[in-house]
Amino acid sequence: MNYKEALQHPIFQIVSQSAKELQVESYAIGGFVRDHMLNRGTAKDIDIVAIGSGIALAKQVAKNLPTNPKVQVFKTYGTAMLRFDDIEIEFVGARKESYHEHSRNPIVEDGCLQDDQNRRDFTINAMALNLAESKFGDLLDPFNGMEDLENKIIRTPLNPDITYSDDPLRMMRAIRFATQLGFQIEDKSLKAITRNCERIKIITNERIVVELNKILESEKPSIGFILLEKTGLLQIIMPELTALKGIDEIEGQRHKDNFYHTLEVVDNICENTDNLWLRWAALLHDIGKAPTKRFHKKIGWTFHAHEFEGSKMVYRLFKRLKMPLNDKMKFVQKMVLMSSRPIALVNDEVTDSAVRRLVFDAGDYVDDLMTLCEADITTKNPKKFKKYHNNFQIVRQKIVEVEERDHVRNFQPPITGEEIMKTFNLNPSREIGIIKEAIKEAILEGDIPNDYDAAYDLMITEGEKLGLKKVD
Ligand code: ATP
Ligand code: MG
Repeated sequence: MNYKEALQHPIFQIVSQSAKELQVESYAIGGFVRDHMLNRGTAKDIDIVAIGSGIALAKQVAKNLPTNPKVQVFKTYGTAMLRFDDIEIEFVGARKESYHEHSRNPIVEDGCLQDDQNRRDFTINAMALNLAESKFGDLLDPFNGMEDLENKIIRTPLNPDITYSDDPLRMMRAIRFATQLGFQIEDKSLKAITRNCERIKIITNERIVVELNKILESEKPSIGFILLEKTGLLQIIMPELTALKGIDEIEGQRHKDNFYHTLEVVDNICENTDNLWLRWAALLHDIGKAPTKRFHKKIGWTFHAHEFEGSKMVYRLFKRLKMPLNDKMKFVQKMVLMSSRPIALVNDEVTDSAVRRLVFDAGDYVDDLMTLCEADITTKNPKKFKKYHNNFQIVRQKIVEVEERDHVRNFQPPITGEEIMKTFNLNPSREIGIIKEAIKEAILEGDIPNDYDAAYDLMITEGEKLGLKKVD
């Protein structure tokens, strides 16, 4: 079969020409070919394999490109990368890999195209398109990847026990592709992942997180997390999540399975946000429930302060997985910590002051918090479902109203500490904090409006209560 039409981008003609000049064969291979067959939009990265030196081919291509891009060479891997037209183009020399039981790193030798296809992870990722002038666009598909694409199957070219044991990251990749593409992992393969799951421990956390992020960025991440759980991988990489599994029953009282609930919340939130970190927050919003679970004879199951415990666990989990410990992590912590606030709010009457406090505490993230809480509604009772959503709609409306009137979202105290010091001729002292706090509280409670004059008057009153006198 010929797929010339996949190779319309000018880069392929240039690679073809450059390979001819060096007298090597070249092929487009891997994700680019797969995604073309699946109609998955335009490529952001293209992999080229040369039967010979990939680095030499990359340099020749760079020379022939009008932009003369820089070639990044990764000598230890025998690969090279250049950028053209916003696309990353990776070059590799065809190679044969053999792994030994006790080493993570394969012995690499030069090989032919078929050797190179054998070392690929899945049949659908091993398809190659010939770039030679006379065979431009011819498909080389030794493992019948096209049929697997058709049947939506993830299958390894070789015995899956060998493929996964050789490079355990492939287990994560299998599950990631199954999630992204909505494919089934072949049964034999799934069993091999389960058998080999312990080997994931030799993979760095950074590489595992790349795959977790891709699962979370998919349309329905639950597919991936259910597979991770079933195969035993999740227990190893995120035991905090598997700890949420199961339903306990004491004296006829049951709680929900917080693992499957969490996955529903994640799928829900994906319909309403592309923000990866909000998706992480949904995944982790209940992790504090496992360590805080208690049974009380009178009230049944409780998860007292699970939000606080959960937000501390977020830090430890991010740290362990070598994820960023920056504002992204703090955002996730904040979402987890505040995840029950809007619910508590609609259970009572939705008062202005409660809404003001919510906006004050959540700041710029109040909309994200509402999105999380709406995704958290997983009741199967249609009446309740509708009622909860309506209540949150009311909260959202109130947030807008309160914000328009009181501007507490990025609260700046209308009276500064300096002004308090000047007014009462004070040095830095605890009185200043007391007055500031009283003003903030009065604004949040709605006792005074959020403006300068009202705050000034209150400052004078509060100062007098503390025995302070205004100086002129
Ligand atoms: P995407 O770019 O959408 O993540 P991809 O399949 O292109 O998917 P890359 O990581 O870009 O994935 O890798 C390019 C190709 O290299 C793959 O299609 C596959 O053929 C091969 N490959 C990548 N990682 C591995 C691996 N761990 N084991 C074997 N082959 C791999
Ligand atoms: Mg790719």
